[in-house]
Amino acid sequence: MVGCTTVISPHTLEMAAEEGEILPQQRDQALVLWQQAVERANAFLQSEARQTLPPSNLVLQAEGMEFRSQAGSWPLQVRSTWWGDLTVDFGFEAQERSDGFVVGSRGEGPEILANSFFREPSGHWRDPDSMAELILHEITHVVYKKGTVGFFPGVAYYLEVIFTFSTVDHSAEELPYATSREFWRFAGKTPLQVDSGPARVHDSNEVDGSILPIRIGGNIRKTAND
Ligand SMILES: [Zn+2]
Repeated sequence: MVGCTTVISPHTLEMAAEEGEILPQQRDQALVLWQQAVERANAFLQSEARQTLPPSNLVLQAEGMEFRSQAGSWPLQVRSTWWGDLTVDFGFEAQERSDGFVVGSRGEGPEILANSFFREPSGHWRDPDSMAELILHEITHVVYKKGTVGFFPGVAYYLEVIFTFSTVDHSAEELPYATSREFWRFAGKTPLQVDSGPARVHDSNEVDGSILPIRIGGNIRKTAND
């Protein structure tokens, strides 16, 4: 339905499971994948492979992700929207916004799980590296305010896309694709560990007690200060 927006966060996944829209196992699958992707992204951000983005780390909280660096912190909301659907129809994975990025429907099932954040173009679930690369690419857009983050840059972006029929060579994509390349170089040298331990979801800033702890695999997990 045009105009519908699905916010994708650990909290909304939890709500969807509570309301019976998705199964608890599906919620867990999504949360574990997301947490593993964040761990992979952080391993990259703390490695020498990271050149384009500033020293930083990524935190997953009940309400979504936050990118934290000395230069500042950015919330990274993930939403599945009609515009994201169009974006996916045109062969993209996601599109940046000032407070995160939008994705579109992809694969079978309820939109909160069947979208280009969780799914490959084939409709299969992403692996943690594939999701980490997507997140890091979009973070680079947000941090450097490239692409469609503001209205006017957005107009210029689309004019350039129309005239060049290309995004890989697009000037606003230079830094995000640099991050993508850096990540894949890192991932090639640092194979994904399958048994990286139980997934964890970070608690929010300690000051905000309103954030719910996230249940993964039936346990309530909170981590103090990492
Ligand atoms: Zn991009």
